[in-house]
Amino acid sequence: MTSFNDFGLVEPITRALVDEKYVTPTPIQDQTIPIAMQGRDVIGIAQTGTGKTAAFALPILNHLYTKRLRPEKKSCRVLVLSPTRELSGQISDSFRAYGRHMRPLAVALAIGGVPINRQVRSLAHGVEVLVATPGRLLDLVNQRALTLNQVEILVLDEADRMLDMGFIHDIKRIVAMLRKERQTLFFSATMPQEITRLADAMLRDPARVAVTPQASTVDRVEQRVILTDKSAKPNLLVEVLKTETTDRVLVFTRTKHGADKVVRALQKSGFGAEAIHGNKSQNQRERVLADFRDGRLRILIATDIAARGIDVDGVSHVVNYDLPNIPESYVHRIGRTARAGAEGIAISFCDHEEAPFLRDIERLIRMSIPSTDKRTGERPAHRPNQPNEGRGKGRPNYRGGGRNQRGNNGGGGNGHHAGGGHRSHNGGSHQGRPSQNSQQAAAPRQEATTGEPRDIGNVTFLQGSGEPRRNAGHRTR
Ligand code: AMP
Repeated sequence: MTSFNDFGLVEPITRALVDEKYVTPTPIQDQTIPIAMQGRDVIGIAQTGTGKTAAFALPILNHLYTKRLRPEKKSCRVLVLSPTRELSGQISDSFRAYGRHMRPLAVALAIGGVPINRQVRSLAHGVEVLVATPGRLLDLVNQRALTLNQVEILVLDEADRMLDMGFIHDIKRIVAMLRKERQTLFFSATMPQEITRLADAMLRDPARVAVTPQASTVDRVEQRVILTDKSAKPNLLVEVLKTETTDRVLVFTRTKHGADKVVRALQKSGFGAEAIHGNKSQNQRERVLADFRDGRLRILIATDIAARGIDVDGVSHVVNYDLPNIPESYVHRIGRTARAGAEGIAISFCDHEEAPFLRDIERLIRMSIPSTDKRTGERPAHRPNQPNEGRGKGRPNYRGGGRNQRGNNGGGGNGHHAGGGHRSHNGGSHQGRPSQNSQQAAAPRQEATTGEPRDIGNVTFLQGSGEPRRNAGHRTR
């Protein structure tokens, strides 16, 4: 497949693709579009940045154009569920862009953090496409502003992140309201067991498509670790920013509170930096993101959830100020650099408490990341074990922790939740952080599946489990 014309998409769509200057389908588009156009369910293993939005949006628009029906009042024909406000906004923008020559085409957005009334009004006459975060969608259903029994196509985007953010129960509730005769397009960057189970329950005879850019991303990024004391991290960041030749720097912290602290520390040292996280208003977040995109802001501090789905090219450096306790997040984070074929640098600070996280990450990516030791010896020296040793030891119960993240970071886009006793609001400053004791295995651990690589799509399987680990410090050209 070399051209969008080969798919047999209707003319208004191909014309929009010309406007967008899309010439060649990306691999996920190449694989997904023909299958989705046949009406089959799809499981797509692909990250943001691979062109997956068009992979589902184009066949959906084609369906809407060829099967024209007037949407019923307070209903939608296509429902797209996405975990964050930003990603939802980007998806609805994409539908509008690819459908710009289609009339009528009503695309509505239902996200938290903004007043609900406008969203209620936008659904009053029914819409073709509704892009929503799960919490706000349920709010709308509970308010009787929306019924879901007319949904012909469901898209679940970033399913793994939905799980991490605690949306799984909401998803199940939503799916239960849909009719069974529908098409489901299911996308996830990784396929942990719980996601596989969810997909099995939601999909009918799905075609499975997967793309490899995650692996090449991991390969393309030059990765380094600096072992440091926790208290030295602010100065270390300043040092890195002074010594590295940076263009756009994305700094990840585990918590919103941590993000604000880093901003203050950098500003004190004369660096212009801003944070993006769930405590910021939608307007603030959009302004900061636009500044970062346009180059007015060089250093952006973000939490995982806030950064998810943000599509910014030209990030030269990702700095993991805190290491993520969910190893897959590391892959997502470093994927923010090395976009669109560019090469990038990922520098991770690892303090004593984070050593087990580093071990988990290295095990996941099957690479040993070159490290520099800048610890002063405040704590007993502790370089993590070899990634292939002691599998599962000291592993924090990160899935459990992840579930409780819901509501901690408004990146989830649900400023207000309706009902749902399962939701946990455990305060803003401990997002996703394991208990102090977790490294002493006091917290319950996730059971490791012995001997098997964890299924994270293509990264893990890039190398057979028996092959030697690579060294992440060398770029693969
Ligand atoms: P996504 O993974 O959907 O977030 O897409 C990542 C970026 O790739 C977006 O900026 C899209 O506009 C762009 N894109 C998607 N498909 C293509 C294509 N076939 N050709 C060029 N750019 C594309």
